[in-house]
Amino acid sequence: MNDFNISDIEKIVRSIVADIKNVEPKQDSSNNNLGIFDDMNEAIHEASMAQKQYLRYSLKKRSEIVNSIRKALLENIDELSKMSVEETGMGRYEDKILKNKLAIEKSPGIEDLKPEVETGDGGLTLYEMSPFGVIGAIAPSTNPTETVICNTIGMLAAGNAVVFSPHPSAKKVSVFIIELINKAIEKVDGPKHLVVTVREPSIENTNIMMAHEKVNMICATGGPGIVKIALSSGKKAIGAGAGNPPVVVDETADIEKAAIDIIDGCSFDNNLPCIAEKEVIVVDKVADKLMDCMSNYCAMQITDKELLKKLEKLVLTEKGTINKKFVGKNADYIMEKLGMKIDPKIRVIFAEVEKDHPFAVEELMMPILPIIRVKNVDIAIELAIKLEHGNRHTAMMHSKNIDNLSKFAKEVQTTIFVKNAPSYAGIGFGTEGHSTFTIAGPTGEGLTSAKTFTRKRRCVLADTFSIK
Ligand code: NAD
Repeated sequence: MNDFNISDIEKIVRSIVADIKNVEPKQDSSNNNLGIFDDMNEAIHEASMAQKQYLRYSLKKRSEIVNSIRKALLENIDELSKMSVEETGMGRYEDKILKNKLAIEKSPGIEDLKPEVETGDGGLTLYEMSPFGVIGAIAPSTNPTETVICNTIGMLAAGNAVVFSPHPSAKKVSVFIIELINKAIEKVDGPKHLVVTVREPSIENTNIMMAHEKVNMICATGGPGIVKIALSSGKKAIGAGAGNPPVVVDETADIEKAAIDIIDGCSFDNNLPCIAEKEVIVVDKVADKLMDCMSNYCAMQITDKELLKKLEKLVLTEKGTINKKFVGKNADYIMEKLGMKIDPKIRVIFAEVEKDHPFAVEELMMPILPIIRVKNVDIAIELAIKLEHGNRHTAMMHSKNIDNLSKFAKEVQTTIFVKNAPSYAGIGFGTEGHSTFTIAGPTGEGLTSAKTFTRKRRCVLADTFSIK
């Protein structure tokens, strides 16, 4: 008979369990394609296997994986930003750097998964956020790398695997970033194929992904078409759709500051962000001053009616919709096509237009800003709500009157409402709060983060463990 007592045995068992928990499953180094597949079905199958393995990893290890990804992406931020502009032909390199850095540094990790708890005579009830499984993430051409970054960090922190469906016009940079992510996961012995995509993204591949039985959740970041398709998939879907963010300026605003903030927000990455200022509605009393201040900054006003007509013809189709050739282009590039050489330091072209002008109604995503003059703030708010089209996305207001600010905020019901600052303040750029480039207005999750990509579960311990 051994002379171990019960407490010695307990100690030994605890130490064995601790050892098992600390040993992460080892990786097989064969089939190392860094997450890029020719076949969507194979990509999904591999992601599903990886997710099963990932479930066994500790939270500490999840965090290590996310940190390794952040580090690798920061080290390659220059290349990512350059490739993104070169391949899509849209946006500004220096602004892509800022956007990518924001996504890398301010997308929350595992700290976002805060449990909820109820205790009492009936015992302890715990609500935990557990992984959803394999998530199919659809990314837009306008923020190709930024979306992959914030989705990867949030989805992985929450314990999921991700199958990306990038926009075909951003396939090279998407493959590049997904390879970087897989190398970073591998570097800390994480599961192989936790983040995957296909070499040739297409509508067909996106449809295969959305219908696949092993894909548990869809997260669609893009225009209204893809959001509608995702919501019809029959699966849990997060829809981050189009915006047409209005800016209201009333007579109490600091007009000089408002002009600078509006131009800074509108010109950020050449107006590609879905949150960026798309039309300004200003009360008559301060309209001229606002436009003068914009002209004194780095914006150019078009007053010549003939030139405005030519601009409309250039950047709109015959139906009055946007001509995609000019999305995300520099202001000087656009004006050059009209035979006008302007200083490349001019970041925005603006013009006073009527309230139903296509520049105000359409989501232009170009550094062209329509200005609409109205009699008073009530009319301004009413028009802004109309031009936002019920997207419930983003709105801005420049005012020092808290009643006016409250009225607009309450009535427009947007996911993001920014007061007296550029639109990018709404995604945590230089302000408090986390960042994301997947803003789920249609489905209401708001600014997505790790907890958005979880399944809420209840765990009950009856009659005990309340120590109140
Ligand atoms: P898009 O809708 O053309 O494409 C988005 C994604 O959906 C791409 O991957 C594309 O390949 C895919 N897609 C489009 N139509 C499809 C179809 N019929 N079947 C299968 N897949 C399809 O958008 P875009 O031009 O790349 O991006 C700009 C749009 O995205 C704007 O409307 C912008 O407001 C919106 N956006 C929204 C957010 C947000 O967080 N709410 C963020 C970025 C962009």
